[in-house]
Amino acid sequence: MTNPTSSFSLERQRLDLQFRNVTLTAREQLAPNYVRVRLEGDDLYGFASLGSDDHMRLFFPTETTDSIEELRAAPSREYTPLVWDENWLEVEFVIHGDEGVASRWAATAPIGAQIGVGGPRGSAVLTGTPGSWFLAGDETAIPAIRRFAALIGDQPARIVIEVRGSEDEIDIDAPVKVEWVRRGDEPAGSALITFLDGLAESDAVGEDPFVFVAAEQSIVKPGRALLARWGVDTDHAVVKGYWKREEAEYHAPH
Ligand SMILES: Cc1cc2nc3c(=O)[nH]c(=O)nc-3n(C[C@H](O)[C@H](O)[C@H](O)COP(=O)(O)OP(=O)(O)OC[C@H]3O[C@@H](n4cnc5c(N)ncnc54)[C@H](O)[C@@H]3O)c2cc1C
Repeated sequence: MTNPTSSFSLERQRLDLQFRNVTLTAREQLAPNYVRVRLEGDDLYGFASLGSDDHMRLFFPTETTDSIEELRAAPSREYTPLVWDENWLEVEFVIHGDEGVASRWAATAPIGAQIGVGGPRGSAVLTGTPGSWFLAGDETAIPAIRRFAALIGDQPARIVIEVRGSEDEIDIDAPVKVEWVRRGDEPAGSALITFLDGLAESDAVGEDPFVFVAAEQSIVKPGRALLARWGVDTDHAVVKGYWKREEAEYHAPH
């Protein structure tokens, strides 16, 4: 639905679903628990990601796969395409311990390891220019926040990111200073929830805002409450759980 008084909309677009084999060629440690990896492969020719909060499905087979069916049978998790060109793609992973197939792979896979990339197959494409921006999330949302931040012009904006501690605050290229909130040893999401709950109607970032909030699933309720307080239409916002505490292979509702 398009709001006639607004200068932007989020438009759904579909892409053909494709599966690609890629090889890990580099890993850069950006923080103690956060890495950027580079994936390469000729299969990446034609890779496209139209929306800043797109996700693709990464497949983690235990051995080399010969067919798409074998690849698709491997465990998979959702990740944000950060930056890519003809035959490479970079992705950032939160390393959250040993228990996740994706996190473990990102931390320990040898250079030369192969994984699969499925999608993205659908995007919410920001068309036009929001009057202002409010981007908030935990570490898993940093790649999407980086992509949205690259679209901000001279409009008012706030970027708020929850991390465990100061050692997790990484460089983000953005026209405004990132506001870091620290959870310390409290549960993931708790510091961001406190921050969002503390924002009053009068704290709205500006006119005609685009609002993006993504973190552990418990962020959804306070995120939606913020939209209501600020009078932001849900079709001018993305509020999403990117993972769920004590649930492996969480699928965010679309
Ligand atoms: C649209 C979308 C885009 C996403 N983009 C990214 C991205 O670019 N980078 C990124 O790092 N993540 C991203 N995520 C989150 C990622 O998909 C999940 O964190 C995923 O569950 C990790 O898989 P895993 O195999 O490591 O752990 P799982 O096997 O899924 O889970 C194992 C255990 O670890 C816990 N767990 C999962 N994720 C975390 C976490 N981040 N912190 C602490 N505990 C956790 C689970 O609750 C479970 O108890 C995105 C999610 C969505 C929905």
